[in-house]
Amino acid sequence: MKVAVVGGGIIGLTTALQLKNELRNVELTIFASDFDDTVSHVAAGLFRIGSSYSGPTEQVTREWIRDSYEYYDDIRKYVDASIAGVTSISGYLFANSSPDTVKNRWMENLVPIYRRVKDEEFRLVEGNWKYGSFFRTLITECNLHLPWAREKLNENGVKLKTMKIDSLKELASHWDLIMNCTGLGARSLCNDKYLVAMRGQVLKVKAPWVKTFFYGELDTYIIPGFNGMVTLGGSRNFDCENTKVCPHESAAISERCRGLLPGVIGKGEVVQELVGLRPHRERNVRVEAEWIFNGSSKAILVHNYGHGGYGVCTAPGTSKYAVKLAREMHKSSVAKL
Ligand SMILES: Cc1cc2nc3c(=O)[nH]c(=O)nc-3n(C[C@H](O)[C@H](O)[C@H](O)COP(=O)(O)OP(=O)(O)OC[C@H]3O[C@@H](n4cnc5c(N)ncnc54)[C@H](O)[C@@H]3O)c2cc1C
Repeated sequence: MKVAVVGGGIIGLTTALQLKNELRNVELTIFASDFDDTVSHVAAGLFRIGSSYSGPTEQVTREWIRDSYEYYDDIRKYVDASIAGVTSISGYLFANSSPDTVKNRWMENLVPIYRRVKDEEFRLVEGNWKYGSFFRTLITECNLHLPWAREKLNENGVKLKTMKIDSLKELASHWDLIMNCTGLGARSLCNDKYLVAMRGQVLKVKAPWVKTFFYGELDTYIIPGFNGMVTLGGSRNFDCENTKVCPHESAAISERCRGLLPGVIGKGEVVQELVGLRPHRERNVRVEAEWIFNGSSKAILVHNYGHGGYGVCTAPGTSKYAVKLAREMHKSSVAKL
């Protein structure tokens, strides 16, 4: 079977790994306009899923989240976990507006620890916070994880081609199965009017003394990654496609993060300022299968895009589901012959 994966971010590469694990005798090629400059590279990669995240049903969404957590947790136990950029991490959420802000229906029964903050823990940060939660979770740093995934795919004979695809239909002439993992690129490829850019800006600072993550209100977060690098965030600009760094936003992020953890930038210098466009979908994340036709040729097309601000953490679950849909479509077509 000839398979084309379109997209070289976390969704495309994880889908390709899943295909290689599940299907024998596939000839697999990944096409991407860019493998090195993707939204995935901007993400801190914390496994924390917002309550707005949604698949087609509550049950399927829970399955995606559980499968994703288990996938990364298995990698965490490997000897080469640090090469794959996966580790466990603990931290705090603080809020004033409502106790609901520090609850999380997706995470509470999934991670090994999720509890209310003790009185003395409020003193770990600045601010008069009313509510707080502490939890242990995982982090996947794409700067390490994506090269690790590409290496694994290379070892398994997968071809990676830097190339923009202008029409999914045209691929139907050469490929039996096409996996559409193009993130925001799916908006024009599929004419999907529900897909909107949710711009985000972060700072990367060198602050190896920060070992715990902290969230405050107004999208303020401090997330330590590998090699002493810490991500400071952030912002969410709805329907905004400006990929230039905004100096005012950087200043506001610095001020908000200092207000939470003084000294986080004082001692550490800003190494990078990054902007990414989250593929936010006004409806649920799209993982769906259909037939696609081009003249007398036809192929199975499976979409896997629109993960918004949670694509790194939920990539394994939606990819597993996407491959399941592909197998079911293939099986039903073989049965009809
Ligand atoms: C500031 C910020 C912080 C974030 N933090 C987190 C976090 O902590 N945890 C988390 O889980 N998520 C986080 N996210 C969200 C996460 O980055 C995205 O959900 C995820 O990266 C989406 O992955 P993707 O593979 O769909 O898209 P991308 O990484 O954008 O990859 C899309 C791929 O498709 C290719 N492509 C597109 N169109 C075409 C075409 N026509 N032809 C060929 N190739 C094409 C691109 O070149 C690229 O290779 C964050 C995002 C931002 C901006």
